[in-house]
Amino acid sequence: MAPTLVWLRQDLRLDDNPALKAAQQRKQPVIPVYILDPDSEGDWAPASASRYWLHQSLRALDEQLQTCGSRLILRQGDSLAELQQLAKQTGAEAVYWNRRYEPAVVKRDATIKQQLLDQDIDAQSFNGALLHEPPQTKNKQGKPFRVFTPFWKHCRSLGEPEPPVAGVRKLAAPDKWPDAVTLEKLALEPAIDWAGGIAASWEFGAKAAEKALDDFLAEGLNGYPTQRDFPGKQGVSVLSPRLHFGELSPRQIWQRVREFDAGQGRVSETTAAEKFLRQLGWREFGHHLLYHFPHTTDKPLNETYADFPWRKNAKALRAWQRGRTGYPIVDAGMRQLWHTGYMHNRVRMVVASFLVKDLLIHWRDGACWFWDTLVDADLANNTLGWQWAAGCGADAAPYFRIFNPVLQSQRFDADGAYIRRWVPELAELNNKAIHEPWQADSSILKAANVKLGDNYPQPIVDHKQARQDALAALKTITGKR
Ligand code: FAD
Repeated sequence: MAPTLVWLRQDLRLDDNPALKAAQQRKQPVIPVYILDPDSEGDWAPASASRYWLHQSLRALDEQLQTCGSRLILRQGDSLAELQQLAKQTGAEAVYWNRRYEPAVVKRDATIKQQLLDQDIDAQSFNGALLHEPPQTKNKQGKPFRVFTPFWKHCRSLGEPEPPVAGVRKLAAPDKWPDAVTLEKLALEPAIDWAGGIAASWEFGAKAAEKALDDFLAEGLNGYPTQRDFPGKQGVSVLSPRLHFGELSPRQIWQRVREFDAGQGRVSETTAAEKFLRQLGWREFGHHLLYHFPHTTDKPLNETYADFPWRKNAKALRAWQRGRTGYPIVDAGMRQLWHTGYMHNRVRMVVASFLVKDLLIHWRDGACWFWDTLVDADLANNTLGWQWAAGCGADAAPYFRIFNPVLQSQRFDADGAYIRRWVPELAELNNKAIHEPWQADSSILKAANVKLGDNYPQPIVDHKQARQDALAALKTITGKR
């Protein structure tokens, strides 16, 4: 019996996995495959923190597949060559996968599909990652949306997303499994163990993802609208790495949230559920933009910004990366990122604004650092977030919106709980001084054991002056601003 290869990528789950389900329904043996092929992903192959997560998630998926009488075949190398070789070795007549939307991957996958079809292999792809795919989301003029609100209104007008497809619990195994490399051979985990903080912060794989969703529904969803902006509180779902690696699909989340909301007898458009689902809409918007404007991973969507006078400042970039800017909220965010591979959304906006507007360092430098350090590094969302912060993307912050890191800190971390957690050298400061220690009396600093310029840095820029510089820099490209 000719088996079906299921090429798994960012869909590391058995539930709502359309490619896996379709393979199962062919009633032939199924061979689940993961191919590590960073060369075909250009500049945006999974980087350090993502590779660590990927290792754990692949292990978890293999364990789950084994409970279905199957296993995960790991390979390394050129995706097309590996698939062709696998098809030859196993006699597979079909290769199924779920679609991805990153520019280099879209191109690669189109070539692979054509080549396989040319060899009479039934190559089929499915939607397992989005609520509505890019071709469905164009405006009345047939053009891609560039502003979120009409985009989301359009998506909502398409009706409820398709429900998740049924999970896979049993898979027919081939008579003989093809060659595979071991997970260790993929060398996804770092040679030097810097990932202890990530290991301690997360549980990995689809089962852990479902538990994280259960916990959020039980404890977080109702408070989401009022708590989501406060990094010191448990106000957000923290599902982003699960979504990126496809341990959970957006359709699964959508359905669970809807059921939960209906169970509480609330289905109006203003409920916490609707607010949360709207955030999935931002994820959709990011994918939509990346698909339609593939150049935006490197270049601004708003071309006016192509000549923006960015500064090269390796020292300041390093201080930002290491959480040593002297602005406590920025440093707390950058240290949370370094330690756990995650940063709260409000703080992502603050640190991104600080890099591009206070330090005038190119947003791509920020995007690259996030790419390396985030466990949820996602080309669509990261590009959207950075272009938004720099003011050069779709639906971007207006040019005059330059986040004041002290005001943001006072507003969203008023009691300093978040700063105290991630910048322990400031933990003893009172709620006023903790947001701007350089303004505090020396006696207050002394009592809290803070020695500015010694155990905590002086601010590396003066925000007021930096704001003027940013506005002046913007004037050079817009003329009139
Ligand atoms: P929740 O608030 O619980 O939201 C649920 C889900 O909705 C998230 O998991 C995410 O998939 C989606 N979502 C929420 N907010 C956004 C948003 N603003 N844009 C797109 N999708 C969103 N998100 C990533 O997943 N990967 C990235 O690489 C990434 N880089 C970012 C870079 C910058 C500069 C900024 C400002 C934002 C970035 N984001 C990124 C978006 C956002 O910060 C994260 O999705 C969010 O913090 C994840 O936490 P959560 O799962 O608790 O979010």
